[in-house]
Amino acid sequence: MHDVVIVGAGPVGLFLACELGLAGCSVLVLEREPEARSPWRAHPLGMRGLSAASVEAFYRRGMLAPLLAASGVHGDPGAGADADEPPRPRSVGHFAGMMLDPAKVEVAALPFRLPSPAQEGVMTSLETVEAVLSERAATLGVEVRRGVTVSALTQDDERVVLRAGAHEYAARWAVGCDGGRSAVRGLAGFDFVGTEPQFTGYTALVTIDDPGKLSTGFNLTPTGMYIRMPAEGHIGMMEFDGGAYDRSRQPTRDHLQTVLRRVSGTDVTLSEVHLASSFTDRAKQTTTYRKGRVLLAGDAAHIHSPLGGQGLNTGIGDAMNLGWKLAATSHGHAPEGLLDTYTRERHPIGAWVLDWTRAQAAVMRPDPHAQAVQGLIRDLFATRDGTTYAFGRISGSSIRYDLGDERPLVGRNAPDLRLEDGTRLGDLMRDGRGVALDLSAGRRLRGSALGWGSRVRYAAGQARNDLGLGAVLVRPDGVVAWAGDREPDRDAFERAAGRWFGSPAS
Ligand SMILES: Cc1cc2nc3c(=O)[nH]c(=O)nc-3n(C[C@H](O)[C@H](O)[C@H](O)COP(=O)(O)OP(=O)(O)OC[C@H]3O[C@@H](n4cnc5c(N)ncnc54)[C@H](O)[C@@H]3O)c2cc1C
Repeated sequence: MHDVVIVGAGPVGLFLACELGLAGCSVLVLEREPEARSPWRAHPLGMRGLSAASVEAFYRRGMLAPLLAASGVHGDPGAGADADEPPRPRSVGHFAGMMLDPAKVEVAALPFRLPSPAQEGVMTSLETVEAVLSERAATLGVEVRRGVTVSALTQDDERVVLRAGAHEYAARWAVGCDGGRSAVRGLAGFDFVGTEPQFTGYTALVTIDDPGKLSTGFNLTPTGMYIRMPAEGHIGMMEFDGGAYDRSRQPTRDHLQTVLRRVSGTDVTLSEVHLASSFTDRAKQTTTYRKGRVLLAGDAAHIHSPLGGQGLNTGIGDAMNLGWKLAATSHGHAPEGLLDTYTRERHPIGAWVLDWTRAQAAVMRPDPHAQAVQGLIRDLFATRDGTTYAFGRISGSSIRYDLGDERPLVGRNAPDLRLEDGTRLGDLMRDGRGVALDLSAGRRLRGSALGWGSRVRYAAGQARNDLGLGAVLVRPDGVVAWAGDREPDRDAFERAAGRWFGSPAS
């Protein structure tokens, strides 16, 4: 019997498998597809944007260099990381096809930002992300079994049993990372609620006879949106048909051409369709991410349109949040209620992402009311405050979990604090443990922090830029659990360490 069975070897399932493997759990991943390779996951159709927050998750586990190399990003990932001030972001992204200008981001207004090797988002592909994670998972002893479709599930107080064909797989915990049409979600009886679609979207690889009739990039039009991607023949479209298109049908050349003509307002001609699929802006989320011994992460827990490229990033955030909590629970040293903080912290983020995509669909609608709001949004995003707000949302840098502590850093992603000897917080997090970083003159936390043994790594030194802090306790997912001033309070530290890491090791 494994500690954890994960259903789905997509990016979220694999990221979670690595987190659990790193923490010493026995992990089995069951994946329906016999082969990892698929044109839907490779460039160009599988192209995905990872946010700076997701890239940072790879950095914190020592996977930044392989990720960048495999994604074709060349140059020194650490370039700029030694600067005194963090650089201005190079790109912000878009809202409903309206591109945001990075020059308008008010860097000084971004909370607790320090230079780091993982400052920017990266364009990559699902195939690349999965390859990097699969390699890592293998080194951590994770077993991935392909060609296994999970179709039944039962659970009791002790274990979960999953069935695929004639085979049974038992584990103490199961996590459904099996995507938007999750079988685990239905089998375990999760409620999945939300809103029905307003549009049908298409992504396709086609041959266009007269590509010059289409503008490149995102094109918001009075009837919807079309996207002419950088790769020749790669297009996206969204048409406000109320989600009426029958998605069980493969989109034909005639249909795609008709839709493209309608949304682009041109008489463009498609001579061939190589690959095509459809999606909608149906936005739904499970009401909880846990039912007994079964949990959900990624698209299995939340679906929405790809507008703004948030799904994968939200899923990686789920996996980072869940991994260490489930591992501690499985090992039996988690404090009471730790696992339930997963839903408490991540459900509001998922709900926000659904709303962010709904807001985009609302301003794209082909009606005068929506177009009026669109004008207003354009005006707001033309301001520094508007763009900075959007950057905080899109990049994930404005995320703050409510941990019941009013100090503004607590609950946020930890800045990449750097000690005088060059060690960075990110380097200290590679083994997936919590970090007590003691920046105080008298190493005030040393005696206390060592009490948590291998669960919390203690590191001390003078910081290049301490942001006014004397110490921080950082959870394995990079979230600040506690922050102390230049004379940190030992009792307060011990209370926080106990809250997140359980009783001190005996
Ligand atoms: C056109 C488009 C563009 C996008 N662009 C972006 C972007 O730029 N940025 C971003 O963050 N997100 C983007 N997304 C969303 C992103 O692709 C998804 O959110 C992400 O792939 C979800 O990962 P996942 O691991 O949760 O699910 P999936 O990638 O769907 O993986 C689920 C896995 O589970 C397996 N599985 C399913 N059922 C079973 C079963 N019963 N038994 C065993 N295995 C099973 C599947 O085969 C699959 O391998 C985009 C989506 C689309 C459609």
